[in-house]
Amino acid sequence: MSTQPVGTRAYLGLGANLGDRAGALQRAVNSLMAAPGVEVVALSGVYVTEPVGGPEQREFFNAVVALETDLTARELLELAQRLESDARRIRHERWGPRTLDVDILLVGDTRLDEPDLVVPHPRMWERGFVLAPLADIAPELVHEPASGVWRGVRRADVSLVLPEHR
Ligand code: ATP
Ligand code: CA
Ligand code: CA
Repeated sequence: MSTQPVGTRAYLGLGANLGDRAGALQRAVNSLMAAPGVEVVALSGVYVTEPVGGPEQREFFNAVVALETDLTARELLELAQRLESDARRIRHERWGPRTLDVDILLVGDTRLDEPDLVVPHPRMWERGFVLAPLADIAPELVHEPASGVWRGVRRADVSLVLPEHR
């Protein structure tokens, strides 16, 4: 049984390009399901995407999750950073390879512009690796590209699963 309060709809972007990439995304989903004040309500497909910016590195696995939550954007950032450290993410350089990246994309109609937290995520609307998975679960938010395809983005042959509600 879920006892989570239902509040704001939020979207988080997940990415991984080191180690067990699909496993890292699934573990992040499992941890989000277990977090107080958060209910995972939808999962996108998993996409294999070319790294954008940063050094030469492996392709990413990316996905987007929809939440119902009573956490604030800042509380979601703290949760995201906890999931990243659980995944043993080590920060080397910006846009460098990582075991797990969790970005706060949208939190209801919250607008924040602080040194360490900008919501909506300021680069999300130009990123196929965010928009392709977001379009799976929130098509009303995304304009498909005129070409019909997202450059550098393809479906992975793995999917995430929503663990049973506890
Ligand atoms: P990008 O933000 O362009 O996707 P990145 O994910 O590689 O780059 P990180 O190194 O993960 O960048 O994060 C750098 C900082 O961005 C974090 O320490 C965090 O405080 C800040 N930040 C600002 N806005 C957000 C947001 N909406 N979601 C997550 N982090 C954010
Ligand atoms: Ca990111
Ligand atoms: Ca990030």
